[in-house]
Amino acid sequence: MQLQPTATPSIDHFKHLMLVVVIALGLLSTVAGWLVMDAQNVLTPALNWVLLGTTVVLTALLVATATNALPQRVIELTCLLYIALVSAVCMTLRMYWPQYATGLHLQPLYLWMPITYVLAFTLTDHRTGLALSCGLLVVFIALTLPYLARGNGAEYGNLTLQLHFVSIVIIAALYYFSSYQHQLGTAQRTVEQLAQLSNTDDLTGLSNRRHMALLLGADLAWNPGHVPRFAVVLFDIDRFKAINDELGHLAGDHTLIALAARARTVFRDTDSLGRWGGDEFVAVLRDVDVASARRKAVALCEAVAAAPLLIRAEVTISCGVAMARVGDNLDHLLQRADAALYAAKRGGRNQVVAETEA
Ligand code: GH3
Ligand code: MG
Repeated sequence: MQLQPTATPSIDHFKHLMLVVVIALGLLSTVAGWLVMDAQNVLTPALNWVLLGTTVVLTALLVATATNALPQRVIELTCLLYIALVSAVCMTLRMYWPQYATGLHLQPLYLWMPITYVLAFTLTDHRTGLALSCGLLVVFIALTLPYLARGNGAEYGNLTLQLHFVSIVIIAALYYFSSYQHQLGTAQRTVEQLAQLSNTDDLTGLSNRRHMALLLGADLAWNPGHVPRFAVVLFDIDRFKAINDELGHLAGDHTLIALAARARTVFRDTDSLGRWGGDEFVAVLRDVDVASARRKAVALCEAVAAAPLLIRAEVTISCGVAMARVGDNLDHLLQRADAALYAAKRGGRNQVVAETEA
């Protein structure tokens, strides 16, 4: 078990910042477009309402995002629904009440409508994205059907048919990529879970022997030729067989779990701790000399002896300490730690022996 928690970059914070920037840019371009159209005298009442509505909604969303007044998901979905609503309203006006839609044309509107499908898939999972997009598409198609029924009388008939066809293709492509991404995510999580399982000791939750050997191998390979500054502490429960024999295997298991939990409190985040096998554990102490590694092992022995691990038995441990050397390998390093541990057992148990004393 690597005790140091892995630092994860704050993706949520980044997403929040991006949302503020995107809404602010949207607001800026809306207001700028509004002013330019006004200066050019091309601002019609319909355009005026659309730009006013967009400015009000974007200002409210910007304030809500910046002050965290609403959850990010609500703000994102509001953006999506607003684009869909404005599209549907403008489309309906332009098709059925053109006198209220002077200055509004369907070409630029139809360019924006696919954005709603993209947003639906990026903001939700592949199934919700599909349901949301299909729902919007059905509404858009239903709104345009009476208009298309006019045949030649429908000024934008051909364009509208193309819009529906392109929408279906876009939704199908988005669904394909989104479900593929979902499958990749599931596979990735499975791989991570398997890696976690293959590195973890079932009983104690600490790193298992395989993982500890990998970590130690990496430490030994690091900076070859330089004097390594890490130590190995091998520790083993004293007379553990007696606990099993007298109190049962379950009590033995509880002792192992309790020792693992106790040991976690003693070592630093930068150290690694694992179960080597049976009642034997190993800790890798980084950036230490032999004296400080020894002190840490003594602290561990004292922590174990200080409060009982098991209610009905007094449990102690013995520790062997070995410093890594230039040109060391895993077997040699562990053999020295094991020799020190053996010396501690021979010396009467409940004690620490460092390799120099062994
Ligand atoms: P010493 O003081 O010399 O270490 O004596 P000991 O009795 O502790 O001897 P040893 O360390 O060799 O004993 C290890 C015992 O741990 C033998 C085995 O039955 C027991 N054991 C190994 N794995 C487990 C386990 O997962 N659960 C339990 N309850 N016992 C285990
Ligand atoms: Mg033992």
